[in-house]
Amino acid sequence: MKLPHHGIVSDYTHEGKGIVKVNGLPIFVENVMVGEEVDILVTKLNKTYGFGSLVERHTISSERVTPPCPYYESCGGCQIQHFSYPEQLRFKQAKVTRLMKQVGVHESVIAPIIGMKDPYHYRNKVQVPFGMTYDGRVIAGFYAPQSHDIIDMDQCLIENAHADQILATVRQLVNEFHIEPYDDSAHRGTLRHVLIRQGQATHQVMVVLITKTSTLPQEQHIVKRLLKAHPEITTIIHNHNPEVTNVILGARERVLFGPGHIEDQLLGLRFKIAAKSFFQVNAIQTEVLYQHAIEFAAIKPTDHVLDAYCGVGTIGMLAAQYAKQVDGVEVIPDAIQNAQYNAKLNHVSNISFAVDDAGHFLVDQQRKGIIYDVVIVDPPRQGLSEQFIATLLKIKPRRISYVSCDPATLARDIKLMSGVYEVSRVQPVDMFPQTFHVETCVLLSLK
Ligand code: SAH
Repeated sequence: MKLPHHGIVSDYTHEGKGIVKVNGLPIFVENVMVGEEVDILVTKLNKTYGFGSLVERHTISSERVTPPCPYYESCGGCQIQHFSYPEQLRFKQAKVTRLMKQVGVHESVIAPIIGMKDPYHYRNKVQVPFGMTYDGRVIAGFYAPQSHDIIDMDQCLIENAHADQILATVRQLVNEFHIEPYDDSAHRGTLRHVLIRQGQATHQVMVVLITKTSTLPQEQHIVKRLLKAHPEITTIIHNHNPEVTNVILGARERVLFGPGHIEDQLLGLRFKIAAKSFFQVNAIQTEVLYQHAIEFAAIKPTDHVLDAYCGVGTIGMLAAQYAKQVDGVEVIPDAIQNAQYNAKLNHVSNISFAVDDAGHFLVDQQRKGIIYDVVIVDPPRQGLSEQFIATLLKIKPRRISYVSCDPATLARDIKLMSGVYEVSRVQPVDMFPQTFHVETCVLLSLK
């Protein structure tokens, strides 16, 4: 039998696990906090690190709080709800600082992270898988960590509370109309996910019912009942996803009620958002983040600006207020359609959009002799492509304002550009409280 090791938690991993040194090797343990004296069992050991589980906690960190969510232990959505909010912010600050220092960024340019006043109920987009228990009960909730087991839950504390009420009605209708939830292991059944999106400023609500089948049984009844229970719903969409996939939305959709999209407002501009378009989920912090992205860009009236990974055109449209011309590029056609509509809606005429891979687009532009003075990027977690970076280094924009949702890939990209660019400002923003994620805005200036 293995014996437990005694130790003190010395630090956190990027995912918020505690690190306990055993014979000099870092062992990663869940649900322990820095300073806590613990007994752990090493469950897996690699060459340079290992994993362990908590056996006993001898002391308790003064920053430990009781997670308010009853599902916290089983759900994989939040990872650091047991940290006090100030500790969550310290953890994220330290994570960004460590990664930035590793690539030569001076600590003095890193600003303190901007947190939220209320770090709960911030998500205005909710997507919930439906399933069935072995005894035939309909369940809806979240996936357990690293699995496809659905944890049944009727409320989520980081989501818009309103969405929970709409989900409760959908669940009731699914039961009442005997709609079979989808079983992903057998690729059988009907209802896969329900997606709810709410405009923070406009209060418009979109409900998307995603099925494996091409039809949604009892759709007229469902629409009628949903609208009766929640008159605030402004559009209902049926999305057909017959594929064996983790991707939630399928290619085809039909509008069952309303215009098929919602609108929301950010920093005085209005945006149309389709089911498939990316739109930041935390409207309050998005405004904070975008303000920094624009400030860092320091756009002049003669500047030609690129908004790469532009989504529905949010950042580009803000930039257009200061620039001569803005080009936006994004890979999802629906998002670009929204972006084009949004430019008209807001009477922004000095912006144009293209559906393309950002790297491919930049190469094409460079070949045409188009030089950007300022480039704003907001890539997904994978960060920038090698092609994009290589081309940036050729065209040498005066400033690059980099909005990142993963500081690890941000650090990698900064290093790749470090021959030509230096980081002069770093602003972490807490866009996803209770989770280990952190959003960072960085200014890269020509050396
Ligand atoms: N700036 C927008 C969107 C940021 S999210 C906003 O703040 O709302 C990142 C966006 O990059 C998504 O819309 C995604 O569809 C897009 N994307 C992903 N890979 C891409 C690629 N290779 N080229 C261009 N856009 C891409």
